Amino acid sequence: MPLTMLSARDLQQIELKTQEIGRMIFARIADQKPAIFRESWWSGRVMDWSMRSEQFKVEMFRFVDVLPCLRSSAEVARHLQEYLCRSQGDFPGFFQWGLRNLPSASLPAKVIARLMESNVRKLARRFIVGSNAAEAALSLKKNWKKGITFTADLLGEATVSEKEAEAYQQRYADLLRYTALKVQNWPLPAECPSCLSWKKAFESGESRVNVSVKLSALYSQFDPIDFNGSLEGVLKRLHPILKVAHETGAFINLDMEQYEWKDLALAIFRRIEEEGSSREKRCYGIAIQSYLKESERDVGELLAWAEKFQRPFAIRLVKGAYWDYELISSRQQGWPSPVWEHKRETDACFERLTRLLLSRYPLVRTAIGSHNVRSIAHATATAEFLGVPKEGFELQMLYGMAEPIKKTLVEMGYLVRDYTPIGELIPGMGYLVRRLLENTSNESFLRQRFVEHLDVEKLLQSPLPSGSRQSHDRVAL
Ligand SMILES: Cc1cc2nc3c(=O)[nH]c(=O)nc-3n(C[C@H](O)[C@H](O)[C@H](O)COP(=O)(O)OP(=O)(O)OC[C@H]3O[C@@H](n4cnc5c(N)ncnc54)[C@H](O)[C@@H]3O)c2cc1C
Repeated sequence: MPLTMLSARDLQQIELKTQEIGRMIFARIADQKPAIFRESWWSGRVMDWSMRSEQFKVEMFRFVDVLPCLRSSAEVARHLQEYLCRSQGDFPGFFQWGLRNLPSASLPAKVIARLMESNVRKLARRFIVGSNAAEAALSLKKNWKKGITFTADLLGEATVSEKEAEAYQQRYADLLRYTALKVQNWPLPAECPSCLSWKKAFESGESRVNVSVKLSALYSQFDPIDFNGSLEGVLKRLHPILKVAHETGAFINLDMEQYEWKDLALAIFRRIEEEGSSREKRCYGIAIQSYLKESERDVGELLAWAEKFQRPFAIRLVKGAYWDYELISSRQQGWPSPVWEHKRETDACFERLTRLLLSRYPLVRTAIGSHNVRSIAHATATAEFLGVPKEGFELQMLYGMAEPIKKTLVEMGYLVRDYTPIGELIPGMGYLVRRLLENTSNESFLRQRFVEHLDVEKLLQSPLPSGSRQSHDRVAL
């Protein structure tokens, strides 16, 4: 549909469709709960206590953060005692007593420490698909058979030495070669509705192998203060990875990290797009965070540039994973906050960007990175309104989260892709803590739906405050 502007009437129709699809999704999910919130898991209980007590949450997550660096059970026991001295959730009685009374070097304290360590590792396993590509491949194949494809991510970010950055470069190249070899023969079962959409997508040239890259892992001096030096430093490591991607036919998505690196990431993305030789095949994508006040301007500029070069690319739209950090660090520096301060502003921006991006299909392939049924329903309603076929956009979610939503969307024939982190616990700690914070936040859709059981009507409400309805949508460039 050639489109320059969405009128108030168009927006109303999209809203009606959003409500209809949203209710359908909720009805299909019914009582199913994501594994992370199931009480039978130790993780479920930790999540539950973290949601009930802010103090427990802070102490527990600090402990989780430091745990992989501890070398002995006595050290773990000492840190447990120091970190969880004030709040211990509803840990079993012997556990609480042991924490308070036993010397950290004693045998029972070490047993408690071992137990705790093994439980944190289990918790991490819920979000991390495997410690290496071979281990990950088993789970990825299982999901593939259910109609859920993947983007593989290597855990690790913000490297501190060039040796470490080189090792990352090598691991990305190995990951690409390994997954390309594995995935080429994986079958898509005919009976699964989303598999038909995937088949069409692959036939129209979308890659079967999809890898997400964090730029801060590739250069130890990645810093906007040396913009050009950082750009070249990253490109030096990225180019060999892109060469392997090209040889294996893989798609590369650049993740978006902290705000301070955003302009560098966008500049690097443009450079690799401009250097790329193919105008037919979509090779690269980048994540955009709707919690950033600058995101609409950035997307507008990217789209204007893309129309000029006529190179197809992808954008993964997310809300953003570093909200607390961005807000606190900008306040600390006395700078204006780069992020919206109310959740509904982030959600509304997400919806505006969804409409803008989907209106640029097929030049831009949009991936909606969200577990929020309202945001997802709005995207699918917009795609339907604009005539974007099911194989023309993706719904992406994180591994280990929102399983009932993924299952429902697959049954409805949408393309669902899992973001699947691979790696060890130490480099994965930042990722794990972000997921724990995300799932337990007061503002989290998943918490509101699956723990607090908020009313469906409330969860499907438009993020625009009543009385400030948009009269039209500016999707013209
Ligand atoms: C496939 C995939 C890839 C991802 N890649 C990236 C990436 O490259 N970079 C990245 O940063 N994140 C990334 N994420 C993480 C993503 O940002 C979070 O998962 C997402 O924000 C959660 O949003 P939601 O719609 O699922 O949940 P919701 O509960 O609807 O939204 C939660 C989000 O709202 C925002 N928010 C919360 N409180 C406020 C407030 N008071 N004011 C304003 N905004 C608020 C935050 O962004 C928070 O994460 C990715 C997620 C997925 C699914």
